[in-house]
Amino acid sequence: MPPSASANEHRAHENRAGQTTLPVSDILVHVRKSFLRGILLLIAAAIMLAVPACTGQAQQQPPPAPSPGPPNPQAPAPPPPAPAQETPKQPAAPATPSRTLNVVVLDPGHGGTDAGARGGNGVIESEVVLSYARALRAELERQGLRVVVTRQGNENPTPDERSALANRQRGSVFLSLHISSTGPPGTARAYTLPEGVGPPARSGPLPWDQAQEAYAERSRRLAELLQVQLAQKFRGSPEVPAHAAVRQLRTIAAPAVAVEVSSVSALKREQLEQMGTRLAEAVARAVTAYRPLYEAGAN
Ligand SMILES: [Zn+2]
Repeated sequence: MPPSASANEHRAHENRAGQTTLPVSDILVHVRKSFLRGILLLIAAAIMLAVPACTGQAQQQPPPAPSPGPPNPQAPAPPPPAPAQETPKQPAAPATPSRTLNVVVLDPGHGGTDAGARGGNGVIESEVVLSYARALRAELERQGLRVVVTRQGNENPTPDERSALANRQRGSVFLSLHISSTGPPGTARAYTLPEGVGPPARSGPLPWDQAQEAYAERSRRLAELLQVQLAQKFRGSPEVPAHAAVRQLRTIAAPAVAVEVSSVSALKREQLEQMGTRLAEAVARAVTAYRPLYEAGAN
């Protein structure tokens, strides 16, 4: 009964409600659109954030690169100095002098255009002393010594060249061989440089021509032993060595003695050369006697 009326009312209500619901649907549409926009904005924002995030990470990676900086404070700098300290040690080792007497440097005097003393019978000092060097070399090598000669033929190295060769040897003595133009025939003498005021001060560089001064005492000891042997081999020779200003000895940084045989004016070449055998024996004995003194480092 009243249902119809109520139904109309209901329709009316629906109509009212439909009229009122129209704006609501519009709102819903707006809401949906705004929702979609929001999602789009969020996606866009996410993309915007993601891109800078990637670039940001790319930019942040360089900072880690400076992180290798920490190794710098760990100072790889100290290691380089370490090898630098090793290098100076190397030159130091070869600089240490040898305590063992291994080498005899034989210096046949003169040579080339410098014939040395000449005898009336054509004897030439520079030639005979070469034969002495050969005889001495053979005898000294038999004793286990190494022999270095300043010349093997008729060349004429300068005094400095001879000294440079001699001073390169470690554990050596130096013997300069000569024949006098005068003096008792068949005798032999050992000479050292006149002793100066003593060894030069250690401070400051040592002048080249004063190299022998530091060895004056050792040279004198070697000369004494040599003269004893020469006196035994060559009758009439002195018992003690003498001093002579032999230029060659001044620049020798080792025990150094000049040995002189007499003489080109009194003996024939064959007679002088025959003295070579006894000269070699005398020198070999003297060097052998001097060896323990040298190696003890005293004289
Ligand atoms: Zn000479």
